[in-house]
Amino acid sequence: MKLKEFPESVRPYLLPNPAGNLVYRCLQCGAEYPIDEFLYTCPRCKGIFMLPDKDFSRLKQISGPTWRQIFDYRKMLNIPALKGIFLFHEFIAPIIPLEDIIYLGEGHTPIVEANSYLQELAECRFYYKNDGLNPSASFKDRGMACALSYANYLVHKKGLKEILAVCASTGDTSASAALYASYLRGRVKSAVLLPRGKVTAQQLAQPLGHGSLVFEIPGVFDDCMKVVEYLADNYNVLLLNSKNPWRIRGQESYSYEIAQAFDYKLENKVIVVPIGNAGNITAIMNGFLNFYKVGIIESLPKIVGVQSVHANPVYLYYLESDPKKRKWQPVRVRPSCAQAAMIGNPVSMPRVIQLVEEYNQLAGAKRIFVVEVTEQEIMDYMLIANRNGHIVCTQGGESLAGLIKARQKGIVDSNEEAILDSTAHMLKFISFQQMYFEDKFPPEYEVIPRKELKNLPQLVRPSNVTHFPDEKRLSSEEFKDFVEKTAKVIADTLDLRKK
Ligand SMILES: *Cc1c(COP(=O)(O)O)cnc(C)c1O
Ligand SMILES: [Zn+2]
Repeated sequence: MKLKEFPESVRPYLLPNPAGNLVYRCLQCGAEYPIDEFLYTCPRCKGIFMLPDKDFSRLKQISGPTWRQIFDYRKMLNIPALKGIFLFHEFIAPIIPLEDIIYLGEGHTPIVEANSYLQELAECRFYYKNDGLNPSASFKDRGMACALSYANYLVHKKGLKEILAVCASTGDTSASAALYASYLRGRVKSAVLLPRGKVTAQQLAQPLGHGSLVFEIPGVFDDCMKVVEYLADNYNVLLLNSKNPWRIRGQESYSYEIAQAFDYKLENKVIVVPIGNAGNITAIMNGFLNFYKVGIIESLPKIVGVQSVHANPVYLYYLESDPKKRKWQPVRVRPSCAQAAMIGNPVSMPRVIQLVEEYNQLAGAKRIFVVEVTEQEIMDYMLIANRNGHIVCTQGGESLAGLIKARQKGIVDSNEEAILDSTAHMLKFISFQQMYFEDKFPPEYEVIPRKELKNLPQLVRPSNVTHFPDEKRLSSEEFKDFVEKTAKVIADTLDLRKK
């Protein structure tokens, strides 16, 4: 729809102008720094940053109902910069002019309701939000679109030469960083650090395909992260891990989209999300808080974070119900099928601790919960979801396992509706399905395939057929013989009746 065709009451707001006063604010000592350079840790105390808008109160001058109209009408505008996460420009990175925004098709991922079989299994209504349908096939594109749009803006504004973007990754961050950097070829070059043998073949192929420099490190993600942090502290590089608060801002779009998809009514909604480095849950909490503070939503949804027993530091931290007695302690991770969340020392933990408190306080009740699930449950529920019309990755399986656990523990009751994050596409993690079907899980995963969930191809090679098409060119007699006998075997196996 063209701008002049929109109602006059919203027309002036549909094209956002650069605005806002964003600053890096240290979560530990409160110091603030201007955003005209890349900064990841507080030079004073080494704390990590959030990126608050010091001019946030200007957003409250527009009423909640008007904001809803702006976003709903804006969806009908055909301006690429506003098609993805920047539909919510004022809440993402309002200082970036539209012409610097990078849009590769991220955001606005579908929300698909589970079928009746799955809803009976969970004993509540639920949906999957398919963030695996982002361009690099994970939710990381939301944060990357924001961080790279900001980098693009800085490169323009300051006339910078080519900058080097680096990240450590459990696979998806590097895929996403490489994709967005390749779009900015000539302005941004990317290098990624991966734990050797701990990303899937598909995830390794992505940064290679996008022309990134790929370094494999003998260690786990947490080790790669330390090396990257050292690089960011000592060299002039753009750090693209979620330590970078621009990433968090982009990922907040996940919450804004959920609000919009449910007509901004969230009182009986529950958001279920896997926790790894805790950037995503940070963004989800902050996103709902922002919309709530401005009156765009009138209630804060419940949020359930999910961790595997093999990588559960956040779960362990919140086991202690008395906030004063809680003690933060990183864990040593064990191999996990939810490999993208296999993190023992989540970088965003200080953000989580602060936001959980604020969220519960504003909601007036405990609204954030963390549950843990077994590796067996992660695999079984991923397979069950995908046998019912979904396309979820192992972390998406973790979400469903987490919902079931939350239902069992009474954290979620039957009249609530859950939105589960499928954080990546099933094909990225297909090697875990393969290990399950072929019964090849190394013992440390603690996964025993359930027979009824296994599925393997069967070779059809009837012994009474003399020649097969992959051996030679068949005569018409031979070919007829092959077709009839092969069809017979399949029909018998399927118990088909003749017409
Ligand atoms: C990164 C990632 C996670 C973990 O998200 P955090 O923000 O690190 O907590 C979960 N699932 C997938 C597929 C991921 O790529
Ligand atoms: Zn500080």
